[in-house]
Amino acid sequence: MSAEAKIKTDKIDSALLAQLLRANLIPAAYVPGPITRQQRRRLRQRVFLARVCSMLKNRLHVEVRWMRKAFFRSAVDVEVQEVQVPEPGEDEVLVEVKACAICASDEEAAAITGNPGHEVAGVIRRVGKKVEAVVPGDEVTIYWRLGCGDCGACQRGYEVHCANPPFTLWGGYADYVVAPASACLPLPEGLGFRQGSLLTDTVGTPLSAVEAAQVNDAVVVVLGCGPLGLASIQLAKGAGARMIIGLDPIPFRREKARACGADEVIDPINTDPIVAVKAPVGPMGIDACICTIRDQKAIQQAIEALAPGGRFITIAGHPKSIPMNRLFCNTWYFKRERYPEIARLAASGKVKLEPLITHTFPLEQVAEAFRVRFQQREKSLKVIVEP
Ligand SMILES: [Zn+2]
Ligand SMILES: [Zn+2]
Repeated sequence: MSAEAKIKTDKIDSALLAQLLRANLIPAAYVPGPITRQQRRRLRQRVFLARVCSMLKNRLHVEVRWMRKAFFRSAVDVEVQEVQVPEPGEDEVLVEVKACAICASDEEAAAITGNPGHEVAGVIRRVGKKVEAVVPGDEVTIYWRLGCGDCGACQRGYEVHCANPPFTLWGGYADYVVAPASACLPLPEGLGFRQGSLLTDTVGTPLSAVEAAQVNDAVVVVLGCGPLGLASIQLAKGAGARMIIGLDPIPFRREKARACGADEVIDPINTDPIVAVKAPVGPMGIDACICTIRDQKAIQQAIEALAPGGRFITIAGHPKSIPMNRLFCNTWYFKRERYPEIARLAASGKVKLEPLITHTFPLEQVAEAFRVRFQQREKSLKVIVEP
């Protein structure tokens, strides 16, 4: 054999070897030695078969192996990495994430858990073998937390307050998430994934607040005109509120509040909010306040402006050191049985979600999405990440 022919043979063998390693047909520790013509033919056949198998797998969508997922060190320090696609258990489904909306709570979740993202809408791609209620291809959003069903909170329908929750959704800034089939809520036809990702938190939570506030024929103040406040204004209007007053220091948000149906908007920084609120309604005060912020001073002022028997409902967490001499209520998320009403309100346009979405980013720009959401509040509302 001439020197030239020998080099050529070596090249073929190393190329073949690389193919075999890629196709996982031989262990990486394999040390090549001289191989016979017959051995080479057999190896080529195995490579061919491996290629056919992998092509069929791709065609039939039976195996999705790698996906992108965002890993957070904080809300401003995030990296998108490749990880293996999770396997759904027998009662679970694999959901391809089409949209994940950034929640106000994601800033804290990014810093504490490194794994924010729970306002997800997407398509079911695989189902576990015991799943019957949903099928691949179904478009869904996901209920954030499932309860144990046995504790006091669950018995009263408050799964989100469960003492021992078996499932909580996190990690929505990724190509896929796994969730129990029972947490899947069907998207209304034609709503789309962007708006679909807002159904749970941005419609469900304010709906609970509006119902608790008993707004029919009432004068209602909405503290904070971010996404939750703007949805509350629309829902209160639809529920028959006599007058709605929106308070927010940001001009862009006050404009949006007017567009969403607020009769009056007030800048609480440059005016005395108690005087300003009472001016259009008279000295008796307001019937209900829906609070979407945690500012202690604003909360105190709103409570002082309440009429006797007035309702103060907060959806932004529990404020400390507030006198409880008036009916006070803290609502959080929504009962799963309310979802059909939530879907109906969004699908019929009774609550308009598109005006609440100001920005959309692909997954690679998730860092920019968080920056816009948390550092440019003067011009951002709902920011959506679309993997
Ligand atoms: Zn949320
Ligand atoms: Zn429970």
